[in-house]
Amino acid sequence: MSAVAALFAFLPGLALGSFLNVVAARVPRRESIVSPGSHCMSCDHEIAWYDNIPLVSYAVLRGRCRTCKAKIGLRYPAVELVTALLISACVWKFGLHPEALVAVVFGAALVAISAADLEHMIVPNVIVLPAAAVVLAAQSAIHPSFEWAISAFAFAAFLLLVALVYPGGMGMGDVKLALLLGAMLGRTVAVAFAVGALSALVPSIWLIARHGGKARKMKIPFAPFLALGAVVALFAGSYLLDTYLSLY
Ligand SMILES: [Zn+2]
Repeated sequence: MSAVAALFAFLPGLALGSFLNVVAARVPRRESIVSPGSHCMSCDHEIAWYDNIPLVSYAVLRGRCRTCKAKIGLRYPAVELVTALLISACVWKFGLHPEALVAVVFGAALVAISAADLEHMIVPNVIVLPAAAVVLAAQSAIHPSFEWAISAFAFAAFLLLVALVYPGGMGMGDVKLALLLGAMLGRTVAVAFAVGALSALVPSIWLIARHGGKARKMKIPFAPFLALGAVVALFAGSYLLDTYLSLY
């Protein structure tokens, strides 16, 4: 049953991904996400509906604008595909339960925030703060407990401390993102942090190998790594945390 529902969630997931591309491109520039309609970033030509079909149009147009032939970033189909897979996975894991809807909101916010951070090095307040509030309220209503609020504020306080001690590594955007993660994940937010920090080491080591001492001054957007950790924690957090704790 869940598998069938997950399959049916894939197409709406692609459409949601297409919308998140618009959100991630426009929100950091403080543009409206409703109007004008989609237009080419290079020639400003309006994009027809048949050139705006998730994944399909990118493949048909071979990643170029129909009018001016400017390259369309791989980010667009990537965001669509990642969103659709994430939404399907949420429906598969949580079934047709209110928590699936909360997980979808959570996943959509993570995708939009990651795309905005990768492109503009910013975690938009207008996405992260409302998402954190909605997720915290929903989780507290579905599973009445202080776990969600405590995890949200404890993780945010922890990242704030890291940001104060080591200003180059973490920004205030990451602190706000921590609120969202803790609200959704509860105690398994520890898994999200561990996975996020470990995966962020990969590009850090690559930068140091390539640029040596200068790499210290280079910034890596941390939100996408935290988001990756959050997805791992959402689907396998309890298992990983219990396995880890059982070692002691
Ligand atoms: Zn164009």
